[in-house]
Amino acid sequence: MPDLKSQLITQALALGFADCRIAEAKPAAHKAIFEQWVADGKHGDMAWMARNLERRTDPRVVLPGAKSMVMLALNYFQGETPSGDGGYRIARYAWNDDYHDLIEKKLKALDAWMAEQGGTQRYYVDTGPVLERDFASDAGLGWGGKSTMQIHRRLGTWFFLAELITTLELMPDTPAKDLCGKCTRCMDACPTQAITAPQQMDARRCISYLTIESKGGIPVKFRRAMGDRIYGCDDCLTACPWNKFAQVSHEATFQARESVFNKRLRDFLTLTDEEFRMLFAKSPIKRIKRPAFLRNVCVALGNTGNAEDLPALETLMQDEHPLIAEHAAWAVQEIQTRHRA
Ligand code: SF4
Ligand code: SF4
Repeated sequence: MPDLKSQLITQALALGFADCRIAEAKPAAHKAIFEQWVADGKHGDMAWMARNLERRTDPRVVLPGAKSMVMLALNYFQGETPSGDGGYRIARYAWNDDYHDLIEKKLKALDAWMAEQGGTQRYYVDTGPVLERDFASDAGLGWGGKSTMQIHRRLGTWFFLAELITTLELMPDTPAKDLCGKCTRCMDACPTQAITAPQQMDARRCISYLTIESKGGIPVKFRRAMGDRIYGCDDCLTACPWNKFAQVSHEATFQARESVFNKRLRDFLTLTDEEFRMLFAKSPIKRIKRPAFLRNVCVALGNTGNAEDLPALETLMQDEHPLIAEHAAWAVQEIQTRHRA
């Protein structure tokens, strides 16, 4: 009869996780660094990061009696950018349905199995009060790359992290070696120099933060650097040489949604609230709501658009939402300046 840990790994792989490794439940390795990062305000508008610091840095506060962290990786790689020539980029993880629902179902099933073995669990996928990348490194799932993202030897950068905190005592795995070496490709690739030093990220400069988490206007100094990105940014991930081993995920949930990718950039400008909600039903993009999405689209059009985009943008300059109106006006000015040059 295989031991409990081996049985758990078998269960996790059968559920579709690509890897499953164990860390000890203890204070996170980067506890002090994280607290300083928050104290310096580098989390920007992400106020949730500054809440419950005690819980966020020690899983035993989240689940009294916790002994182990079950760290899981789910592959979401879907190959290269989908066909369709809309002239924009969306971060790979947001090409289709929100991953939270899919992964939570798998975690729930694993939790139920572990409960049968006598464990009590809390499970999270990326929104939980846990510094999950620290525990992923402890478990040897991957290592913390200079990009601050976890790098997995086989999956590269294209995987979701999820975890269960459990009262079951499981043999911890050995941490992975840092295999970044002298490489700095992720830092060099960042269009806004948001990776200020190895493993140090100023979220306020990051295009993922600016296009997803930030509720307000995009600072003018970053708008040109956004290029054609309308939701998130993958540049520091794409640059990583460890992606050469990545295999396409079997999860159809992550395949590019045709109804989105067959649109041109300017087609998004005329979406009503209702149409926006329908187009992005179940997608992570729906969460930022239409005004912030159109804000992003306007910036991308300001960077890539032409005279044919001007009528729709000029209409949006009168939009009742000031966020949309201001970014549309900026885009119009950028296109006109380019055409005059
Ligand atoms: S996501 Fe883009 S902007 Fe953010 S750190 Fe990576 S490369 Fe830079
Ligand atoms: S791009 Fe290079 S430095 Fe950055 S995470 Fe990958 S291996 Fe490490």
